[in-house]
Amino acid sequence: MMPCYLCTSAAVQFGVGKVVTGEAESTPVAREFMESHGIEVENLDLSERKDLLAEFILRYLGLWDQFLAECNPKIFLRPLEQR
Ligand SMILES: [Zn+2]
Repeated sequence: MMPCYLCTSAAVQFGVGKVVTGEAESTPVAREFMESHGIEVENLDLSERKDLLAEFILRYLGLWDQFLAECNPKIFLRPLEQR
């Protein structure tokens, strides 16, 4: 999963050079922020990571809404709805 905004800020603060993520759709602004600070972001774009997030969102919708409301859960729920 793409790092949340808090972890993104920490990556910049501590001089992380590269972030490898299984998906980059959950927090696109975080990617832009890291790249604008010189961090290389490699997106592996793994469908199983998106499926895992979709399952988490469905199981713990309250947690998602509480902590990751800035992310768009519909991105991940779409593949499950098509099953
Ligand atoms: Zn985080």
